[in-house]
Amino acid sequence: MDLLIKGGTVVTAENSFKADVAVTGEKISAIGLGLKPGRNTEVVDAKGKLVLPGAIDGHTHLALSFGGTISSDDYYAGTRSAACGGTTTVFDFAQQNAGERMMDAVHRRNAMAAKDAAVDYSFHIGVGDVTTDEMLDSMKEAVECGIPSFKVFMVYDFGVDDGQFYKVLQKSAKIGALVGVHAENRDVNNVLTKQYLAEGKTEAWWHYMAKNEMVEGEADVRAINLAKMTGASLYIVHLADKMGMDAVVKARDEGYPIFAETCPQYLHFTNEVYKRERGRDFVCSPPMKNKESQDALWKGIQTGDIATVATDHCPFTKAEKDWGITKKDGAPGNFTTIPNGCAGVETMYPYMLSEANKGRISFNRAVELCAANPAKLFGLDHLKGALQAGLDADIVIYDPKKNFMITNTQMHGDTDHTIWENVKLKGYPIATYCRGSVVFQDGRFLGRKGAGRLIKCKPIRLKGPQL
Ligand SMILES: [Zn+2]
Repeated sequence: MDLLIKGGTVVTAENSFKADVAVTGEKISAIGLGLKPGRNTEVVDAKGKLVLPGAIDGHTHLALSFGGTISSDDYYAGTRSAACGGTTTVFDFAQQNAGERMMDAVHRRNAMAAKDAAVDYSFHIGVGDVTTDEMLDSMKEAVECGIPSFKVFMVYDFGVDDGQFYKVLQKSAKIGALVGVHAENRDVNNVLTKQYLAEGKTEAWWHYMAKNEMVEGEADVRAINLAKMTGASLYIVHLADKMGMDAVVKARDEGYPIFAETCPQYLHFTNEVYKRERGRDFVCSPPMKNKESQDALWKGIQTGDIATVATDHCPFTKAEKDWGITKKDGAPGNFTTIPNGCAGVETMYPYMLSEANKGRISFNRAVELCAANPAKLFGLDHLKGALQAGLDADIVIYDPKKNFMITNTQMHGDTDHTIWENVKLKGYPIATYCRGSVVFQDGRFLGRKGAGRLIKCKPIRLKGPQL
């Protein structure tokens, strides 16, 4: 035994109980009361603390090219930041280029991630080209290589049309894959954008208006209908609106394998942020919605109809956000010239655990949303997502009594601001272990660049709404 975390309260998705956690090498070797350390065992006193599985962030965009720049956190900065917030695995995106086989995209991104990642990681493949059978059929090869998760965009020029989306769903049902979708109505978004700009409406608020509740909701409903038609399982990423939430609940009640992810920014902020002086800092897609939508999301968090919480972590600097005022080339900017995305990978688990600590959900539910469910959905529950003998020793020690006010100076990424500035949390992680090695302790990153490993996931076959 190399490490013994003693006297804490172990929290899993199912229950909470007093127990010691023993780690041997990279794995959890025992969980139980009164475990005895060996001669060379490091003993950590966790009395009064919670011992949790490391979080799995199913949605990050590290080193992403977008809007004429690259997101501020590369694979090292992003995973360093993750580790310091108790996240021990991140799922990033490998976007397939035209004419490329699915696994080519993974190899290309992995060449960047493998040398940099400080925690474990895997990929969802962003579907960019299924115009030929060869491209579509290459999905199967990805599943066989341990990358069974795909994402389509209903919005953006590089996204799919409904026919292509349908084909991807059909294929995924056959080969044991999960299809994630960024659901927003592209055509309506484009029309509204043009109209607002023609009327001189350039501020961040109009980013929200061009991607309002109905623009997202219509696409959510359409995506669910397409999934129903094919028998495929569907994962709606960053769900942010009530119409979509209602459609997810209905489809799940009918027995369909429909799953939703939401993000802390939609649970904490509403569209009111776009009226702030620096509303542009909050520009992300989909945008934060009204209070009614936020309430519906919280209800889904509480009832179990939301499957996971992830971040969509994709930070840009203040200067880049300012391109919404003055573009890079000096010309006047508008809401379409603001790079989309915000920081969140370090604050996700602390925020959800803080909400649990305040009594809004149970700690078990927070663990389910941030660790257990992503592990099951993405096919890595044979390795991660729970505290259990035989699984990877991805462990967070959490102090429920430590009050923490988020400031960017205390974050460990590379960007220069956070939308979470001055948000107060009740409780905070004090240590993170990734496969048995300490990567964060007492506010400091202790991990190593390149120590993270690419996780190979199992094929995903979900028959109904239960995980
Ligand atoms: Zn995203």
